[in-house]
Amino acid sequence: MRIDILTLFPAMFQGPFAESIVKRAVERNIVSIFIHNLRDWGMGKHNVVDDYPFGGGAGMVMKPEPLFDAVEAIKAQGNNPDAPVILLSPQGRVFDQKTATEMATHKRLLLICGHYEGVDERVIEHLITDEISIGDYILTGGELAAMVVTDAIVRLLPGALGSEAATVEDSHAAGLLEYPQYTRPQSYHGWEVPQVLISGNHAQIARWRREQSILRTMLRRPDLFEKANLSQQERKLIADKAASRSK
Ligand code: SAM
Repeated sequence: MRIDILTLFPAMFQGPFAESIVKRAVERNIVSIFIHNLRDWGMGKHNVVDDYPFGGGAGMVMKPEPLFDAVEAIKAQGNNPDAPVILLSPQGRVFDQKTATEMATHKRLLLICGHYEGVDERVIEHLITDEISIGDYILTGGELAAMVVTDAIVRLLPGALGSEAATVEDSHAAGLLEYPQYTRPQSYHGWEVPQVLISGNHAQIARWRREQSILRTMLRRPDLFEKANLSQQERKLIADKAASRSK
């Protein structure tokens, strides 16, 4: 997969992409990440990329010309020129695991990081193919959002984690939160690891994990629990457990 990121602040990406799983995925050629400086397509001798908003008001707006020129030039590099062009924006559809999974199927993505008051509306109407928000709050720029989206996608690419099973059981992968995890020591300050996890009985462990996952989702995220794909038997079992807990 190839991910192109267009930004006014390329240096912001140095730290996060030079560590851990994303770094390893790049080294193993699972993904190529290209950071492009929008200023390179800025206008005039000062490489201007923004201007005052028509109609007045606070802040600056990102001009259309540098964005259109940059996207055209970046698309011409490499294959898949029809790759989705995604603007990070608080007005976009809210990013979740399903969106990450869908985005991870593309051979190439181009992410645009906005800044200031955002981009000229003609960029949204005629250049980009999608707008993605990472939540209902306002960041100063799209860079952190692009990092979040890239990280969530890269860890889904085959070979990135080393163990695909890890992503299948992750929270949100199948609409539930993940079960509680424990590691050594078995007893810490008198707090014991649940017996079932050291029983060696894999069927019982799988059952316990499934129950914990459902129970935890019901208690912490009733919105997800409502939509979860559970059998009648599982729903009854969890309702009984929850009832006995509240007694
Ligand atoms: N004035 C804009 C509005 O009210 O919709 C907000 C502009 S924001 C200060 C500047 C840039 O940060 C946006 O163009 C976008 O690229 C990025 N950004 C801010 N919040 C974001 C979010 N929740 N998700 C994704 N990108 C975000």
